[in-house]
Amino acid sequence: MKAAVVGAGVMGLATGRALKHRGHDVVVYEQFEPGHKRGSSHGRSRIFRLAYAEEEYVRLAQEALGLWRQLETETGETLLELNGLLEIVRSLDQSTAATLEACGVEWHRLDREEAERRYPIRVAEGSFAVLQPEAGIVRADKALATLARGLDVRYETRVHPDELAADVVVVTAGSWVNELLDDPLPVKVTRETVCYFRPENGRPIPSLVSFKPDSHTHDMYSLADPVHGLKVGAHHAGPEVDPNEPGEPEARLIEQIANWARETYRLAEPEPVAAE
Ligand SMILES: Cc1cc2nc3c(=O)[nH]c(=O)nc-3n(C[C@H](O)[C@H](O)[C@H](O)COP(=O)(O)OP(=O)(O)OC[C@H]3O[C@@H](n4cnc5c(N)ncnc54)[C@H](O)[C@@H]3O)c2cc1C
Repeated sequence: MKAAVVGAGVMGLATGRALKHRGHDVVVYEQFEPGHKRGSSHGRSRIFRLAYAEEEYVRLAQEALGLWRQLETETGETLLELNGLLEIVRSLDQSTAATLEACGVEWHRLDREEAERRYPIRVAEGSFAVLQPEAGIVRADKALATLARGLDVRYETRVHPDELAADVVVVTAGSWVNELLDDPLPVKVTRETVCYFRPENGRPIPSLVSFKPDSHTHDMYSLADPVHGLKVGAHHAGPEVDPNEPGEPEARLIEQIANWARETYRLAEPEPVAAE
């Protein structure tokens, strides 16, 4: 079968690789250059975790863990770096512990002192950490390069599904999806800001999330960055934008992120070393 994939983010490249492995003739089309920063998949790291509040997401993440490990074995690349995920909570109900238990995923409760001993973090009085050890980061840029290996990817080629001579077209166009579909999906496009910090040396950087009061929704998130040490973002906090318009980091989000990073981590420098 001739298959075309529109979009070479992580979803399109993973789809292309899976189709090729099943023996199909695959071309992936990407409107921008490799490593471009206009979509969602660029950069050096993303949180990988099994810790979700919904059981179906935990099961999917468990399957994904096996597939990342398989990709590492097939290619000789190290893509996952698992220093653990910490959920900083005020009660166990607020964490994903019940779902993890139901899915047979290892987790531990760390009291405030123990969490601060193991990691360069500060935990507020009255809070504690739920540690999910089989979590951490996926090396995002390495993952894209690894998934693209051996695939026919046509960069700087903007296409519409209707113009492609293929038996099947898979649309993995991220923020641009509604430019390509007859029936629009309920997608809201936002431009998110992330900042990078230099943490104190010596102890491992976990992935760490905090929650909005009385909810399972992430408020702030942080993770290891292979260059600066620490990456921090505010979950779904950016303004709604047109994905075709390039933009800059938001000053108000840089301030919010920096305040949270200073409260949550032991930093070598209090200000962000970079923002994007
Ligand atoms: C700031 C931020 C932090 C995140 N952190 C995490 C995290 O820690 N952990 C996690 O699991 N997830 C995280 N995510 C989510 C994750 O990164 C995304 O779910 C994932 O990258 C989506 O990949 P994608 O391939 O669907 O989209 P994209 O990476 O946006 O890829 C879509 C591609 O389609 C291309 N395209 C669009 N239209 C066309 C066209 N007509 N022709 C050709 N090409 C086209 C685009 O140029 C783009 O490259 C984060 C997302 C953001 C924005």
